[in-house]
Amino acid sequence: MHHFTYRAGELYAEDLSVQSLATEYGTPLYVYSTATFKRHFQAFDSAFADLPHLTCFSVKANSNLCILRLLSEQGAGMDIVSGGELFRALSAGVPAQKIVYSGVGKRPGEIAEALLADILMFNVESLEELRRINDIALDLGKTARISLRINPDVDPLTHPYISTGLKQNKFGLDIEQSLEAYQLASTLPCIEPVGIDCHIGSQLTNIEPFLEALRRIKDFLAQLKTIGVKIRFLDLGGGLGITYDQEDPPHPKVFGQTLVRELQGMDLTLILEPGRVIAGNTGILVTEVVYTKSTKSKEFVIVDAAMNDLIRPALYQSFHRIDEVRPRQRPAKKVDVVGPICESSDFLARDRELPEVRSGELLAVFSAGAYGFTMSSQYNSRPRAAEILVDGTNVVLARKRETYNDLVALERQCLKK
Ligand SMILES: *Cc1c(COP(=O)(O)O)cnc(C)c1O
Repeated sequence: MHHFTYRAGELYAEDLSVQSLATEYGTPLYVYSTATFKRHFQAFDSAFADLPHLTCFSVKANSNLCILRLLSEQGAGMDIVSGGELFRALSAGVPAQKIVYSGVGKRPGEIAEALLADILMFNVESLEELRRINDIALDLGKTARISLRINPDVDPLTHPYISTGLKQNKFGLDIEQSLEAYQLASTLPCIEPVGIDCHIGSQLTNIEPFLEALRRIKDFLAQLKTIGVKIRFLDLGGGLGITYDQEDPPHPKVFGQTLVRELQGMDLTLILEPGRVIAGNTGILVTEVVYTKSTKSKEFVIVDAAMNDLIRPALYQSFHRIDEVRPRQRPAKKVDVVGPICESSDFLARDRELPEVRSGELLAVFSAGAYGFTMSSQYNSRPRAAEILVDGTNVVLARKRETYNDLVALERQCLKK
């Protein structure tokens, strides 16, 4: 459910006309809905109400400070994967004790920053990382709470680029190595093993792989007990999918109930790291048609948003629903919706049935709230889009549109003396 609906023949973001927002803020434009964020967070979080738990929003899905603050006010913690994301989370007022830090390549400086901030825990992905965190904690006179990220080797049945819990993926530790790793963790003086973690992939539309991973972890926890390691946190990562097109993922409520049932009586605090399922359908990307053109083999709709604004179609062949902001009831055609960038992969949709549109008209690209702006770049020297956050009839400019000066602000001309 989201709050982008048609009223009297035009698209609204909550109570504001998308056409007027585009007139005021320009295009391409990311438009987010506050009510949708709140609803999605509450629906997810309340599904786990029967267990002690902490829902840590995956910052990489949408890291705008307004969004992090909004979610934090709803009670969310944060799952971060870099020092930059730690900085964002702390800047947005997220309590450090609600931050978990994932990722295979944490650098020494980043580890130190997280230790000094006193985050809840590190999700550790290798033995070398474990030793390094210990060394840095020793230098700083700190103790690091850690979980080990286990790779449970289950197939998430999703796009190969976004599956992370298979043996051949770079993430986590093989379950066979993990007992040894916990043994090492408990001997390191500045490491306190407090949890276990896994994250098997993204855009999962089936609950089975989650259950399979959970069962493997439960078996492993029984082994852990025998070596005297007591775990307090079970972090099941993120990955629950959303409907972009025809997918039918389990509702967060069903997802939650199923996991809670599996965890009855386990005396653990559950940690979840949802990203897409919270943010995906909270945002649209509004773009203006620049030209249309017909060739012998194709019809093209050339728009002012491109792969630098939304890379998911180019990167994963992802589907994003596209509709007119003001539907005009013209006959449909099969078109490619493409951007101005000099790459053939610069498309937002291919072979899509769309009513005929003309230059100057607006299109909305739906489900752009997660991995949209955060994956954007300045490729082709295109200033990044603006982001706005709507709340009823109010709107805030959450991020200004970049300028040409922003493009070169950090550069030198290297003129000869
Ligand atoms: C990306 C990521 C998430 C969030 O994944 P979603 O599919 O957006 O829910 C959670 N945890 C980790 C470790 C991640 O890398």
